[in-house]
Amino acid sequence: MYDIKKIREDFPILGREIYGKPLVYLDNGATTQKPRCVVEAMTEEYYNVNANVHRGVHFLSQKATELHENARETVRRFLNARSTNEIVFTRGTTESINLVASTFGDAFLKENDEIIISQMEHHSNIVSWQLIQARRGIRLRVIPITDEGDLCLDKYEQLFNPNTRLVSITHVSNVLGTVNPIKQMIVTAHAHGVPVLIDGAQSVPHMAVDVCDLDCDFFAFSGHKVYGPTGVGVLYGKENWLDKLPPYMGGGEMIKNVSFEHTTFNELPYKFEAGTPDYIATTGLAHALDYVTSIGMENIHAYEQELTQYAMKRMAKIENMRLFGTSANKDAVISFLVGNIHHLDMGTLLDRLGIAVRTGHHCAEPLMHLLGIEGTVRASLGLYNTKEEIDILIDGIERIRKMF
Ligand code: PMP
Repeated sequence: MYDIKKIREDFPILGREIYGKPLVYLDNGATTQKPRCVVEAMTEEYYNVNANVHRGVHFLSQKATELHENARETVRRFLNARSTNEIVFTRGTTESINLVASTFGDAFLKENDEIIISQMEHHSNIVSWQLIQARRGIRLRVIPITDEGDLCLDKYEQLFNPNTRLVSITHVSNVLGTVNPIKQMIVTAHAHGVPVLIDGAQSVPHMAVDVCDLDCDFFAFSGHKVYGPTGVGVLYGKENWLDKLPPYMGGGEMIKNVSFEHTTFNELPYKFEAGTPDYIATTGLAHALDYVTSIGMENIHAYEQELTQYAMKRMAKIENMRLFGTSANKDAVISFLVGNIHHLDMGTLLDRLGIAVRTGHHCAEPLMHLLGIEGTVRASLGLYNTKEEIDILIDGIERIRKMF
């Protein structure tokens, strides 16, 4: 049984008011709120454990290291990775993708090599590759999408050729909510001998992810979108791939021995973790992952699916409603425009009613160009949202529509 009342009580911020109205937080795609257990675990570590991790002989350093490495094991279990060697802590999805783009680019890419991305990518999975494009002269090939917001899989297959080096695609679109058939797409890529990076920023908070079952080569996600703290994220990489990639940044932690003439690098995953890690945030992330696991990712998925379908049905009935992303495989993200009402006006007026939504291009300008719009209003759901909150959103939209 999904105890929504109890779940909401775990998030103190949900009890607050905005302009005298109860907060309706529908900006979970940008970041999620934090349950008490996450904030308390981090506070407790700062108050009672804090010391820099690794190589410290003293009690606190060893204790902090233990918490940090236990967090890595929690992430490993959460993703069902084979080994903690495959779990690299980063600052978030953006850094994880940049890490692969930069190191894979240096190790394997040369002029005219091709990377396959899609029309629905977040800027972090476009611009990271464009930076390598400038350094290496590679080409980006883009999978088109249908009117409903599904990837055109036949076109995807046609993009492969002997120059294809990597596929880098999002699991779930942060604008359209489309859940891409990545398992099937990974099989296709592997049949061409091409590895695959999955941007899991918008999937990890909403569904169980098993990297072994998916057989992806890299998988990136952000802690703050899955009820954890800001400033920490994860890059999963198959050990044989991570072994082949050069370090990303130089500094402490990532080395074995250093001299002015020659430096040897640390083993995995530390080779990619230069400098002091955000070890308080990794503790917070572990608690967030334990929290969602305790509710059950399957339960969260089923609950949010019901909410999404309820919202989509109600939204579709609003006069002059334009919904962007109507795939049959859709999750927790609802992008829309109503008549000629500018997305900024809609967002600002909804805010006055206590409803937090996001407006603009959602870091997906190429997708906006394709749709022929400048931006949308986006309501994105989390595990603590309710049908009553959807009703408040619908009433708010209707009220604003009538004002214009
Ligand atoms: N990819 C997708 C699909 C996203 O939605 C986001 C965040 N909006 C990112 C990447 C970047 O995540 P972060 O800013 O946490 O690095």
